[in-house]
Amino acid sequence: MVIASNLGYPRIGPGRELKKALESFWGGRSDAAALDAAGATLRRASWELQRAAGIDQIPSNDFSLYDHVLDTAAMLGAVPSRFGWNGAMVDRDTYFAMARGGPNTPAMEMTKWFDTNYHYIVPEFEPGMIFRLASSKAIDEYREAKALGIETRPKLLGPVSFLLLGKSRHAGIEPLDLLDQALPVYEQVLRQLAEAGATWVQVDEPMLVLDLSARARAAYAQAYARLSAACPSLKFLLATYFGDPGDNLETALELPVAGLHLDLTRASHAGQLVQRTLAAVPDALTLSLGLVDGRNVWRTDLDAALGTARAVLESVGSQRVMIGPSCSLLHTPVDLGIETELDEELCSWLAFARQKVDEIALLARALVDEAAVAAELEARRAALASRRASSRVHDPAVAARMGSVDEAMQRRVTAFAQRQAAQQARLRLPLLPTTTIGSFPQTGAVRKTRAAFKAGRLSAAEYDGFLESEIERVVRFQEEVGLDVLVHGEPERTDMVEYFGERLSGVAVTKHGWVQSYGSRCARPPIIYGDVSRPEPMTVRWARYAQSLTDRPVKGMLTGPITILQWSFVRDDQPRRDTAGQIALAIRDEVRDLEAAGIRVIQIDEPALREGLPLRRAQWAAYLEWAVASFRLVAAGVRDETQIHTHMCYAEFNDILEAIARMDADVISIEASRSQMELLEGFARFRYPNQIGPGVYDIHSPRVPSQESVETLIDYALDVLAADQLWINPDCGLKTRNWDEVRPSLMHMVAAAERQRSRVTAS
Ligand code: GLN
Ligand code: ZN
Repeated sequence: MVIASNLGYPRIGPGRELKKALESFWGGRSDAAALDAAGATLRRASWELQRAAGIDQIPSNDFSLYDHVLDTAAMLGAVPSRFGWNGAMVDRDTYFAMARGGPNTPAMEMTKWFDTNYHYIVPEFEPGMIFRLASSKAIDEYREAKALGIETRPKLLGPVSFLLLGKSRHAGIEPLDLLDQALPVYEQVLRQLAEAGATWVQVDEPMLVLDLSARARAAYAQAYARLSAACPSLKFLLATYFGDPGDNLETALELPVAGLHLDLTRASHAGQLVQRTLAAVPDALTLSLGLVDGRNVWRTDLDAALGTARAVLESVGSQRVMIGPSCSLLHTPVDLGIETELDEELCSWLAFARQKVDEIALLARALVDEAAVAAELEARRAALASRRASSRVHDPAVAARMGSVDEAMQRRVTAFAQRQAAQQARLRLPLLPTTTIGSFPQTGAVRKTRAAFKAGRLSAAEYDGFLESEIERVVRFQEEVGLDVLVHGEPERTDMVEYFGERLSGVAVTKHGWVQSYGSRCARPPIIYGDVSRPEPMTVRWARYAQSLTDRPVKGMLTGPITILQWSFVRDDQPRRDTAGQIALAIRDEVRDLEAAGIRVIQIDEPALREGLPLRRAQWAAYLEWAVASFRLVAAGVRDETQIHTHMCYAEFNDILEAIARMDADVISIEASRSQMELLEGFARFRYPNQIGPGVYDIHSPRVPSQESVETLIDYALDVLAADQLWINPDCGLKTRNWDEVRPSLMHMVAAAERQRSRVTAS
């Protein structure tokens, strides 16, 4: 018997029911009982759906009201002292305060879950923290399913990954020092699960696909020896995912567990991983094969998957094989069946979570009796063949253009010093020029008008008229405040990637393809399904209009290829770098059209450059090579006097400065105010050659920065950078702020720049 297994199902519900329940609870419009009921309804629906599909091992405790790492912190009672928790079970209010902050208590930090667009709450360890069982969620949800007649496999985030994902804010505490404290709590939970009747548990240890220290490897051995000895009746399925365990494979194979899950979709050489595993697999170990991609939206190539599974089966026997998704299905949209925006052909190439569950069950059945499912396999083969051959996927014109890309297309005509002189002669900017990052407040009126237009209640002419009036307002405002380089404000964009996704060929956008980003926040990533090209200019109309209103330079605003790639579902039939190259060519054309339309400054945003880094350090250089090349391909088609900006946020850059410098943007703006310009030290040490705008105003906070505080930050920046290298701007776009915050903040910023300008000139 081959076991059909799932590692996790999306929590948000097909119609974002969880989002609605959470936001209504937080807004005081419904009570805790209503929230609990909504959760129970969602869990039941997903369990029943998986059972009906034929999944043998259905996960429980994959649901979360906010985040599974936060759930684990709650399980261990790892509550930072500022939340004033009383020490019994972690109650709902404490839980949400940890996630979202309280009236005077900052929330816990949030960061990206590996290289996905899901964000987790970073565990915080502090002195005096004593772990103890403080949440019964895992056991409650196991029992809840059982009461519905559904046997589940409880899922826990493993102790080593949990600790390594956390941070200690105090010197002297290393997360792994806390392992001895964490293990007794895990033992307690596991014993309770065993007593309640669980036979298998899924323990996620995704950290096993990263570069690990010897100490971390030893921690794995210690933790699992202890846990399996404490619960001899439980079978542990140790789940690795998001990559190949690589040099940690041996460590994983030596752990005293009953099953090991491998992600066979993201390992660059899945065949080799299988061979290496089979060569060393202990006698009784079950292998769980992650054959259905949990990070993407494509239908699985079932024949290829069956081939891999058969090789394993022949070697270890059918009793020791599970078929599953590569990772939890959390990262895919919920159900293709409810999608309305995509055409039938495109749909036939796709599988969302619900369809992936069917694929898993089908694979498991095919391994037992292929003849019984022959017709189904054949239908899927046909869909795959149609995708492979489709002219919507393969555009010879794009291929030809890609073939003609050469080194010269990726190089500005002259070096920065010479360009800088040409740009200055044309732009005549003062010392310490001021600008913003692009978006201005997306007010209720902007969002409502866009929704009315999309719903057909407003004509295109009316909508365009509205956008023009918004742009004019934003331009006048910036003139009044005295900014030097203006923007049009981006009122026409819901989202910096979706906007381009809607306008590029080879890219589709969905109506219901929501994926959880964090808590109640969901995103709808575009689907890049074919060769990408640009049928017509995408932003020129608005940039030209804005420039027609003023003599000051207006910055054209574009999203770069890496960010579009990172925040979309991408093709699985060609390397990411090729897709990036195609997007780069399309955006390059837009850059040239902006230049031809008289736009003198063009910003190409790459906030996601850093998050595209591979999980393993050894692969960084190769990624950075093509990522930088794709940026340069976008930017290098302009004349010397056209100034190229880029913008990055959310990250530390010090370990990739050399790559950032190779992008050769004339000006880069980065997030720096929250670290009091500490981020700049790297740029200074590295002697970053071009110009930099370190954010001097933290747009993530509603606080209006005083003129003095901005002056102080400029002082810090002037300590490490030359005055003629420095730009003055906020941290990021102003889209999420309101006008009452933006107006005084920018006035203070401009006044601070003026003060500093006269000081610098005087000295
Ligand atoms: N130009 C974008 C904006 O201002 C940049 C957003 C971002 O970096 N995330 O909104
Ligand atoms: Zn930003």
